[in-house]
Parts: sequence; structure tokens; C-alpha cells
Amino acid sequence: MPIAPFCLTCGKTFATVSGMRSHCRSKRRHKAYSYVCEPCDLAFVHLAALQSHINSPRHAYDDLSDYTFNSDVRHKCNLCAKEFKTRKALSQHKDSLAHRDRTLQCLFCHGMFKSASGIAFHLESGCHQVSRHEVTAAVHAMQVSPPISLNPLMIEAAAAPTVPHTVDDDAAHSFVYAVPSSFNGRAYQCHLCYKAFRSLYSLTGHLNSPAHDDDEFMCPKCERRFKLVSGFIQHLESGACGLAKRKAIEAYFNDLSGQFSRLLKV
Ligand SMILES: [Zn+2]
Ligand SMILES: [Zn+2]
Ligand SMILES: [Zn+2]
Ligand SMILES: [Zn+2]
Ligand SMILES: [Zn+2]
Ligand SMILES: [Zn+2]
Repeated sequence: MPIAPFCLTCGKTFATVSGMRSHCRSKRRHKAYSYVCEPCDLAFVHLAALQSHINSPRHAYDDLSDYTFNSDVRHKCNLCAKEFKTRKALSQHKDSLAHRDRTLQCLFCHGMFKSASGIAFHLESGCHQVSRHEVTAAVHAMQVSPPISLNPLMIEAAAAPTVPHTVDDDAAHSFVYAVPSSFNGRAYQCHLCYKAFRSLYSLTGHLNSPAHDDDEFMCPKCERRFKLVSGFIQHLESGACGLAKRKAIEAYFNDLSGQFSRLLKV
């Protein structure tokens, strides 16, 4: 279920994801809540909820502003009968996730996904007894070029031929609920970082987010930082930086899931 996006630093809530992002940019060190789908402008309380949204047909549906209803010149989609003002808008629509088949496969459960970020979210959600930290370590070990890793110590650790230990069920699946006793008289306070939140609800979101994780990846072009590789892949897929084409992103991610399954089979 979507929630209001909020600032992890000051707990302020926003009507839109972009509103939250511009708040965090203007306050410089404020951190944006990370379980968000930017193309759809939605925030979620738990990683698994975001992941199932990303893989649902609702995700990345077209911007209604591209539709035309009263124009003489119409470009009609032969798949869903929607009409567009321009040929370009129509071809963008046909290439969007709305009409894309699930062509990417999870090597662990053989589930099919529409996008590279969808499969990354799937792995990070802990459904295959691996934690988001192990997914991060596997990506660091790939040492992709241009470099996207921020933490050189982790790269060495991940590149070393060690047997990755799988985390136990509890660590991978536990969902933490904020307790009413976290109320300090004025606000609900996180016991780890002492940040205050207006509601038990936003504190719960904070506790289950990667808020206390470090930034692990950086976009080589715009230098935006990400805690999870799925966030970085979603950034690439959004085309905001024009850094890579969809095919290249998918090829890159196939490498990642191959690498990841090799690591786990050692
Ligand atoms: Zn803030
Ligand atoms: Zn979405
Ligand atoms: Zn269509
Ligand atoms: Zn799977
Ligand atoms: Zn905290
Ligand atoms: Zn970028």
C-alpha cells in the first residue's frame, strides 16, 4: 500500500516523491525516503511492497498528458487502442513497461520480470535467503566500468574468494514495527539514530528502510548516490542521465544475476 513520501532526516511528509526530493536537495543533508517508485510517484512502507509494485502492470504506465482525444491527427496503439498526439509519443508508449513482456528471469526461482530494476528489487527483498547487503557485495565484486562503487573496502572483501554465508530467515524476512513507547513526549524517536517522526507509521517505514545503510553506489554521470543497486538501475532506466540504453542495462544485469548465482554456488 502506498504511503506519503517523507524525509528520513526531519520526518516531514510530502504529497509527491518529487516534492520530497526537492526538499532534500534544498536542505542539503536531508535524506529522502528510499522505497519510492519515481516514474509512478509512489512511496511504499516495505521493500517487498515496492518490489511487487515494480513488477505489477500498474508500474510505469503512461503519462496521461500524452493522450489526445480531440485531434484530427491520431496515432493509435494497435495493442491497447490508446491514441497519441505524436508518432514519437506512440513509439515511447509501445516501448514502455505497459506493453513489455517479462523477458528477464530470476536464476533462483525462474520468476519472470519486465525490467532489470524489478529483478534487482526482487533479489534485495530477501526472498531467496540472501540479504540486500549480499546483493550489494555481488555488484561491487563485478567492478563494472565506469565505476559505480563507493566503498573500496567492500570491493576487496567481495572480490576475495570467500564462501558467502546465507543469512538466517529472521534476518532476511523480519519486519520491525515501531512501538508506542518510542514516543518521547513530542514525537516518535528512532532508537538507532534518534531522529524524530510525527507518526508511528513513518517511524516504522524508517526502521525498515535502508536508512542506516551507507550509500554504496554513485551514478558516474550525475553523481547521485544510492544505497541499493536497484535504485541505481531504476535511475538508469528512467533515462534521466541518458547513460545507457535499455538493452545495455538488461545485458549488464544478466551479468549480475549470473555472477550472483556463481557466488552462492561456491
Ligand atoms: Zn527534511
Ligand atoms: Zn511504479
Ligand atoms: Zn498501447
Ligand atoms: Zn527469484
Ligand atoms: Zn534511525
Ligand atoms: Zn545519473
